[in-house]
Amino acid sequence: MPTPTRTRFAPSPTGRLHLGHALAAKVAWDLAGGEGEFLLRHEDIDGPRVREEFYQGIERDLEWLGFHWVGEPLRQISRGRFYNEALENLKSRHLIYPCFCTRREIQEEWARMGAAPQGDGGPIYPGTCRDLTSSQLTARLAAGDPHAWRLDSARAAALTGPLTFTDLRHGEVEVNPELLGDVVLARKDIGPAYHLAVVVDDAFQQISHITRGEDLLESTHVHRLLQELLELPEPIYLHHRLMADDAGKRLAKRDDALAIAALRASGMSREEVLMMIR
Ligand SMILES: [Zn+2]
Repeated sequence: MPTPTRTRFAPSPTGRLHLGHALAAKVAWDLAGGEGEFLLRHEDIDGPRVREEFYQGIERDLEWLGFHWVGEPLRQISRGRFYNEALENLKSRHLIYPCFCTRREIQEEWARMGAAPQGDGGPIYPGTCRDLTSSQLTARLAAGDPHAWRLDSARAAALTGPLTFTDLRHGEVEVNPELLGDVVLARKDIGPAYHLAVVVDDAFQQISHITRGEDLLESTHVHRLLQELLELPEPIYLHHRLMADDAGKRLAKRDDALAIAALRASGMSREEVLMMIR
């Protein structure tokens, strides 16, 4: 029997659900279809902006829109142990390294270099801490200097060899491991962060098809690499278009007039709201 399509919608409970989110939820809902399963995950590890009322608001708005998820919503805040396991795994294989740089030091390094090194996605981390000697590293760790953990993308790519991912709109895409450079997998303030949490949870929730806005296409290169390093299953992707207003520019996510709750309060019906994200 073929595995049913499993998709997820993964908002951050740091604000109200807007039309742009509703579009993302609808893409995941539609792809799951009648036979498949649509899951909900709250990406709530981003600290102080997360508020309890936003979890409830998001769930209420999704229900109102008619997108009903299977099972309990997953909260990333309860999953730290698993992210740390993944981090330790990468650490033990020297695929990540501690980075002590502040934002300012990174900018100063870019200035020293004359120009920031460019990935295809824009300026990337100059690699300063990748070249620390082991005695420097030991001293700074012993001193308790705050640090992030960065993926050693070149080392990771050498280990995995060439990779691809399949996208339902873009076809087969060759992974460029250097696209975003040595990304942060664990932050100084919150520990394991977005890129790592997402791949660990997509595997845990057995997501077969990952839908996301095309603004995240570059991140997928990193995620595919991490899936391979962590021996996680390879999902299929669908990077969908973003909401655009009449002027064609991206809707500001924080534009409260476009919150689903505001549209509902203004007397719009579910059907009318869904028409806006067709
Ligand atoms: Zn650094």
